[in-house]
Amino acid sequence: MRNFSFILILFLAGLSIAPSVRALPAPSSLSEREHRVNGPAAPRATPKPVMQRRGGGSQAPRQSITVVIDPGHGGYDRGGIAGQRVAESVMNLDVAQRLKAILQASGYRVVMTRDSDVFIPLGTRVAIGNSYRDAIFVCIHFNATPRRSASGIETYFYSSQSLGLASAIHYYVAGGAPSANRGVRRRGFYVLRNTRIPSVLVECGFLTNPNEAQYAQNSSYRQKLALEIAHGIQNRESVARMAGATRIVSSSNSSTLEPETVPLQPFIDQTHYRDPDLSRGRHRRSSKSSKSTSSKRHKTSSETASTKSSTKKKRTKQAED
Ligand SMILES: [Zn+2]
Repeated sequence: MRNFSFILILFLAGLSIAPSVRALPAPSSLSEREHRVNGPAAPRATPKPVMQRRGGGSQAPRQSITVVIDPGHGGYDRGGIAGQRVAESVMNLDVAQRLKAILQASGYRVVMTRDSDVFIPLGTRVAIGNSYRDAIFVCIHFNATPRRSASGIETYFYSSQSLGLASAIHYYVAGGAPSANRGVRRRGFYVLRNTRIPSVLVECGFLTNPNEAQYAQNSSYRQKLALEIAHGIQNRESVARMAGATRIVSSSNSSTLEPETVPLQPFIDQTHYRDPDLSRGRHRRSSKSSKSTSSKRHKTSSETASTKSSTKKKRTKQAED
């Protein structure tokens, strides 16, 4: 009889506690659950969407991360090469605006270096990026070359702090696109060299390649590109930790990868014909023998950081600056 009353008391106590547990306000219990997920022992029944939005979730401040999106070219600078049918600047902006919408929906703060078809000097783009301390800088471009068969996705970085972001974005974009994987490459583009925050430049395919130009003109394909770039941004920490990521990075070169030892890689078949004025100036200067000063020339477009594909020596020289 004693035992029975004891059990009865326990039972009644349980009844009185249970409702108060259930009455906890939903938002706080949700955020608590998120926090607990971050610990080593993840609780069961974690709502999946929350986890994925946070991209593998490590710390809460992630939400405060600012993403500066830099759609290449714009205004009179269409990008690409002379005679190119599909304007690169238009495609860049479209993908960038889609990326902006996706990231904003995931709680990121997004800043656009341009949000319309206007020309923004590279220095201004860099200044915008550098005005946000806790930010990452993502340049969106499409490739072009007179050789129509050239195709594929490539992602550029310069500083070692940018390698993880470049690897992650490339992992998703190259993995999600039907195009060839041209690898992650290190190169001193103006915007990559001069931004003090992690910065990458994604070349989302060749608009001079008939197949890739056709893909790019499809809005759902551009949406897909934007989604993959967003996945890379969201999951950059977890991808950077993966061994597979470094394999992708080094695919075009050596077997192991350390940021400091990744050589600056040649920029193949880039769009050096675009701006007639610039090209003329560069031709004159590069025709002189003053190789040491050729690297100091002004660049008014990110691809103009590339050199003539014919002059290999100079290319290496420039890559060093
Ligand atoms: Zn471009």
